[in-house]
Amino acid sequence: MVLPIVIYGDPVLRAKCKPVDEVTSETRELAQNMIETMVEAQGVGLAAPQIGVPIQLAVIDVSHDSDCISYLRVNGEDTEMKDIMPLIFTNPKLELINPKVSEQEGCLSFPDIRAMIKRPIEVKATVTTLDGKTLVIETDGLFSRAIQHETDHLHGKLFIDRMPAAAKVSLKGKIRRMMETYGNG
Ligand SMILES: [Zn+2]
Repeated sequence: MVLPIVIYGDPVLRAKCKPVDEVTSETRELAQNMIETMVEAQGVGLAAPQIGVPIQLAVIDVSHDSDCISYLRVNGEDTEMKDIMPLIFTNPKLELINPKVSEQEGCLSFPDIRAMIKRPIEVKATVTTLDGKTLVIETDGLFSRAIQHETDHLHGKLFIDRMPAAAKVSLKGKIRRMMETYGNG
């Protein structure tokens, strides 16, 4: 089932999300609906607060572009991207590996807004699957960026917080109109 995506202005996007301690059938259904919602919206990632649920659950699928990373290791083993996509994960812990690079980024909670965001190129992410398995994911490129972006959501942090000041100023009117149109804040 495709769910409505929460747009910036809703306070749930600023919530510090609760860790997922127990996976129930509702958690699985929610994750499945999040994948359908992400696909429908043509996004590469979606975090639970973006559908109004402040828990540490997110989904990612960047497999449309097999060249968007230069390596992927899962629990120390070289892994094909398609073997772990779509990725559903909870409770991520990240180790960020510099240097940083600026790339164009968007967010499903900010329709029509894109900006250059600087982030570390590589990440080592320790996440838990719905089956309770721990995955240590080491990667770069778009997958690394998506993991960082979705993990930010789970801590109430948004990509506009990482936008260069000048970009933020130039998008101010657009962001305000978006809040007035969709937000309740
Ligand atoms: Zn986002």
